[in-house]
Amino acid sequence: MYDAVVIGAGQAGLSASFHLTRLGLDHVVLDANPQPGGAWQHRWDSLSMHDVHGVADLPDAAAPGDSGARANAVLPAWFGRYESEHGLPVVRPVRVDRVTDGDDGLLVVHAGERSWTTRTLVNATGTWTQPFVPYYPGAESFRGEQLHTADYPGPEHFDGKRVVVVGGGASAVQFLGELGPRTDVVWVTRKPPVWRDHFDADAGRHAIELVQERVRAGLPPASVVSVTGLALRPQEQEAARLGVYERRRPMFARIEPDGVRWADGSFEPADVILWATGFRPAVGHLAPLQLRSEHGGIALLQSGADVQTATTAVRDPRVQLVGYGPSASTIGGNRAGRAAAVAVRRYLAEHPLELA
Ligand code: FAD
Repeated sequence: MYDAVVIGAGQAGLSASFHLTRLGLDHVVLDANPQPGGAWQHRWDSLSMHDVHGVADLPDAAAPGDSGARANAVLPAWFGRYESEHGLPVVRPVRVDRVTDGDDGLLVVHAGERSWTTRTLVNATGTWTQPFVPYYPGAESFRGEQLHTADYPGPEHFDGKRVVVVGGGASAVQFLGELGPRTDVVWVTRKPPVWRDHFDADAGRHAIELVQERVRAGLPPASVVSVTGLALRPQEQEAARLGVYERRRPMFARIEPDGVRWADGSFEPADVILWATGFRPAVGHLAPLQLRSEHGGIALLQSGADVQTATTAVRDPRVQLVGYGPSASTIGGNRAGRAAAVAVRRYLAEHPLELA
């Protein structure tokens, strides 16, 4: 029986494990991936360390710097070194399929035939495994290719094709920057994008607080980026010069075999629809614990002033969620990992084991 089981070995799970280790708490980290690196190992080859928006340090380890090297190689190698240098107890590949209530107030974490019994749980499963694609009428009739951010194969794949990029977030902006100078692209978003010309620590805090307000109310979390606004970087200037970001259109009404059609009857032919429409928290395995509020999200308790340290599930204080809602960024994952370890220690102290 463990003091804690951590599910997921991305930035948030590694931070939690570092702090659990420091507090002397007996735990194991279960990770579905075959290699270290969390979601970074699955990101596309053209995403360099120069293209990421800034990766936070892990506790006691400085993040790799800006370079032209591939993020999907540099960051997994860094995570791997971190796990071994800090002796973190990661077991992989283990895909957890459900967490249930066991006897005597314990939790049981199941992965196929295997199971782990634990007093508390730190869920750090991120969002990468839950790509979200909204449904539009006619989607199944489309003769071209439909890809999600999670499948982005790099810009060369799109050469000579007409691409509709859907989505108003940072990924869409980045894809348009790569594709705009080399092929025909049309940008479609549900709402007009909000461009920011100025983004400082205060604006960042405000954006994260907006996400936490939703989580506190038990609503499904919005992505942090959706409330920070968008900015064009030097690598997107060529597409901007070509007018790619100005030719944005509102959301189409339906998909037809050869393209997309708007409510006013206008039509754009398309070979590819690239859905840069985000991800949802990967929390299906927690369903047996019934953590969701009536509004569909998992409400988290906030104890201090820092909203990224809200990690404890309102409906079950044995469960911490890190990298969820306001802590769904590398810096948020770090802070939440520490807060979760402290909350685990507090829970264990307040609920001593009654040995039979
Ligand atoms: P992940 O890195 O997704 O790790 C979760 C781990 O949990 C994975 O290893 C997964 O295999 C495992 N897992 C999932 N389900 C299970 C299960 N059922 N059983 C066992 N294991 C499971 N943030 C920044 O701060 N800076 C950036 O520059 C930045 N760039 C980004 C670029 C892209 C394209 C995207 C999509 C996101 C970006 N983000 C960035 C957001 C950032 O990547 C994430 O917030 C952060 O890395 C997530 O860390 P995490 O530990 O929560 O999750």
